[in-house]
Amino acid sequence: MRNIAFGYSTRCNIRCSHCVAVGEELTTSKMELQEAKEAINELAEAGITGISFTAGEPTIYADDLLELLSLCKSHSIFTRVVTNSSWAKDTVSTLSQLKALKNSGLNQLRLSYSRWHQEHVPQENVLNAAQGAIACGINYFVSFVTDFSETDKNYEDYLRENALKFFPEPLIYSGRAKDYLKEKLFTDYQDNRCAMNLYLAPDFNLYACCDAGNHFTKTNAFLLGNLQKDSATELFSKSDHNPLFNCIRNIGLSTIASYTGMPSREIITYRKCELCEKLLNEPQTFTTLNKQAPFMLQNLSR
Ligand code: SF4
Ligand code: SF4
Repeated sequence: MRNIAFGYSTRCNIRCSHCVAVGEELTTSKMELQEAKEAINELAEAGITGISFTAGEPTIYADDLLELLSLCKSHSIFTRVVTNSSWAKDTVSTLSQLKALKNSGLNQLRLSYSRWHQEHVPQENVLNAAQGAIACGINYFVSFVTDFSETDKNYEDYLRENALKFFPEPLIYSGRAKDYLKEKLFTDYQDNRCAMNLYLAPDFNLYACCDAGNHFTKTNAFLLGNLQKDSATELFSKSDHNPLFNCIRNIGLSTIASYTGMPSREIITYRKCELCEKLLNEPQTFTTLNKQAPFMLQNLSR
């Protein structure tokens, strides 16, 4: 199984204040449809088995999305669309849009939901989208982004009261949420391993991380190359065989941090992506870690 987050465009029809997909700047970028299709053909040939059409809001370019989904279907690629449900205004129009997605081969809907999304999109839209997905035979789940504060109680209650399938996702303090006030962490010592999902940006740059890591601009730690210049196979191999990435996947960021000399009592005050940023977006630490990574993997595996 090899999956990728496919950023056809960073354009969105709402502006969530916590959005990790873009920073404060208003610039948006988008692939050309034909180039996106060529990219999918190449990804398929290189063994991609799942594509997640992700942020911005993929349904803004509805016709393009249908074409891209059909192309994925022809390659037997599993497809997911990550959406804010702004389009699911009533039962009738929701069903007609979902049927079109289903006919083009969509396998799964991931419905983004949080107190920040719901400043712009009524909760009922998420319910419409979920119920419509069930009616059309499309698998769905709600991605409930939360900072785990009391403020989110009513939002979680709404999901439970309506028996929606949901998974809490921690707010990532990156992109527009970078400067949010953070509550202190009260948790045990976590490995902080990360599976690391690939992300293809609208400029065809391919990153080894689809979340905060593609904003590590001081080191460009996760930039693998550009799909229009390098082959997908070559870029996947770079991601698979990078010793530091394999340390992140296998021994986890906490062990890496400990290896650099960071005290345990300090490590537990970091959230996963922040710890990742501290280690990988600081040029000197990043260079040292890259040199040490092959030995870390050998010596620090339990
Ligand atoms: S819906 Fe998603 S892509 Fe759009 S602003 Fe909100 S978090 Fe960002
Ligand atoms: S821990 Fe690092 S690699 Fe994993 S999602 Fe966060 S920034 Fe990306």
